[in-house]
Amino acid sequence: MSDTPVASRDLPATSLLNRRTFLASSTAAALGTTLTGRAASSKPSTMPVTRSAAPKPLIVSTWPFGRAANDKAFATLQAGGNLLDAIVDGISVTEHDLANHSVGIAGTPNAEGVVSLDACIMDGPTHKCGSVAGVEGILPVIKLARAVMEKTRHVLLVGDGARKFALANGFENTPMPVPEELERWKAWKAKQAAAGPGSAPPLSHDTIAMVMLGANGDLAGGCSTSGLAYKLPGRVGDSPIIGSGLYVDNDIGAAGATGIGENIMRFCGSFQVVEFMRQGAHPRDACAEVIHRIQKKHPAGVDLAINFLAIDKKGRFGGAGTSDGFVFAVTHPGSSQVVQADRVPPRH
Ligand code: ASP
Repeated sequence: MSDTPVASRDLPATSLLNRRTFLASSTAAALGTTLTGRAASSKPSTMPVTRSAAPKPLIVSTWPFGRAANDKAFATLQAGGNLLDAIVDGISVTEHDLANHSVGIAGTPNAEGVVSLDACIMDGPTHKCGSVAGVEGILPVIKLARAVMEKTRHVLLVGDGARKFALANGFENTPMPVPEELERWKAWKAKQAAAGPGSAPPLSHDTIAMVMLGANGDLAGGCSTSGLAYKLPGRVGDSPIIGSGLYVDNDIGAAGATGIGENIMRFCGSFQVVEFMRQGAHPRDACAEVIHRIQKKHPAGVDLAINFLAIDKKGRFGGAGTSDGFVFAVTHPGSSQVVQADRVPPRH
């Protein structure tokens, strides 16, 4: 397939600019050194965006916090771990990060003050996957998703069943929410009571979606989130749904999503990204093309808050999103940095 951007004819000038330009990295302090001694930055890079293949292994994850996860995943691969080990180790870093309020231990609770976590994992070579949704008090749920994949005949376990399965398989009870999140929830609850029924909860949310191309050309991916802040109890978004928050096809590529799950899962977003890559689209253009397709179903001007990233079998990578600040972390031998995704603004 050629590198021709299938979506570029539809993209506004800002997106075309973002195709070639990373956000400015303003200070030398943004630069650091990873455990492996490789150059690393947690700020978006100033280097030109490449459309060509990166060296393997290649790891791409959502948001700036994805970089620490990528670095851990990379170290696991360097130490001889397989792709699934690397996905679990990497995403576990984010799940244990007390500064992260959208994934894992310090995740934001639901409307009743309960943290309920979602995660999934997918293995390219076997096309097997495992997923958990609405899990309370268990960590890391990415590891639990792997256990579902490897130890059961099923793909998805939810709620109490997933928790029981976890406790029976060596996972320990982990109290959540953390005190800071509990206090925030109480403040939100008081505000809600004052504002009256029907007042909208804040749209706070994020996910780590990680996709990976191994040195031997195999693919894998994983995803983990606490979902939308103050969601209705029982709400599950795109992240643990195979084909929505994550999809891997070992012959083609892998894609993951972050944003308002309801606007992703109605369209099997990550599956569609992989299908556009199957048709020959560059990962970046595949992400943008799916957003265009979703936008066509909505009134002009609506910001759907949907963001995708993808890698293909050749080692090319990219991301696109409707969110202004959507960035993702890219890690491969010699480099680990956070880069700006293409922005696809609401259609007019
Ligand atoms: N997609 C996640 C969800 O809807 C949240 C996010 O990634 O921002 O649960």
